Amino acid sequence: MLRIRARRVHPVTAPPIEDGAVLVDDAGRIAAVGPHAHVRTPPRTERLEFPDGVLVPGLVNCHTHLELTHLGGRNPERDFTTWIGRIRELKDATPPEAFYEAAAAGVKDCWARGVTCVAETGSTGAVMQALHDLGGRGIVYQEVFGPDPAKVAVGMRELETAVARLRPLVADRLRLGVSPHAPYTVSAPLYEAVAAFARRERLPVAVHLAESPEETLLVRDGTGPFADALRARGIPVEARRRSPVQYVAQRGVVQRGTLCIHCVKVDADDVRVLAGARASIAHCRRSNEAHGHGTAPLATFRVAGLRVGLGTDSVVSVGDVDLWAEADAAALPWEDALRMLTIEGARALGWEHEVGSLEVGKAADLAVLTVRPSDRPTVRLTVLAGRVVYALDSAP
Ligand SMILES: [Zn+2]
Repeated sequence: MLRIRARRVHPVTAPPIEDGAVLVDDAGRIAAVGPHAHVRTPPRTERLEFPDGVLVPGLVNCHTHLELTHLGGRNPERDFTTWIGRIRELKDATPPEAFYEAAAAGVKDCWARGVTCVAETGSTGAVMQALHDLGGRGIVYQEVFGPDPAKVAVGMRELETAVARLRPLVADRLRLGVSPHAPYTVSAPLYEAVAAFARRERLPVAVHLAESPEETLLVRDGTGPFADALRARGIPVEARRRSPVQYVAQRGVVQRGTLCIHCVKVDADDVRVLAGARASIAHCRRSNEAHGHGTAPLATFRVAGLRVGLGTDSVVSVGDVDLWAEADAAALPWEDALRMLTIEGARALGWEHEVGSLEVGKAADLAVLTVRPSDRPTVRLTVLAGRVVYALDSAP
């Protein structure tokens, strides 16, 4: 067993405990949480003490592309459509084994930031494999692309093959979903086919949605740089006369629990559609800012009752996987930031019964931080399902 004592323990779903402790059983679950004096120490328990540390639930990063970790700082393009094209070129130039190395490095970066659960979207399956091999926790949404409506069968074949290959890796800590990438890379019939497949196979869905003004131009009016690029490839483009949210919802993709990533270009009707469907949102404040897309209406989402978690997006967009920087950028006060980064992120992923707070019976995913006024916390220790996966003192 493992017992961690800290100056303050934040269960998040209960008030903070001064001089508190958490006892972790041998199955990696929380056996006790409370004041130090009330938490027992069974024989042969390993004891860790952080007299100036703050113990919190492990953080949940609701949007990553860890398979792109090796591309951090390598895409200087300013214009979004050009940036997207450059990402494709950089991915095409990456040998398969490099994706695995990037994924493993990305998972460890997350642990060093106190993150114990990720919602990853990717096309290679490398992050699923890395999480499996390293004993990480996350949901991996397998991406599918295919803007040409004549090639739906090809896209579905690729997706079904990838899902069949990754499914044996699914476990308590590792879930699999699907992600029809974005309105500028997925045709209307492919969205419908993926939505039907996901329902049939009971796979959760994530979509990049309403991210940029260019996307709105493409969907609503059939114009703009995405439309031009598709037409140049001989792919027909239709003006849908509705917003990206309403268009994708109409294809059956926005279901209960569907993780809608970004949602910057949304109006009140869109928010109603998302809330009505009981969709979740991954709010990626810094990424949206870095690409000049503007700011998603976080407060409006929360008032509408939507489940919202914070996500960093890829290191190619924002440079790191620092969730506290996301909370800072969203100007959230500390306690609210902590809630959003833990239990609310877990709810956005449908994982709130297992992680996101320090409660007896839940998985022992937690982090010990040093919190200084007017500075981001330093992560001292990260524990995942009862196992120490990062310790500052032994960090390289
Ligand atoms: Zn993304």
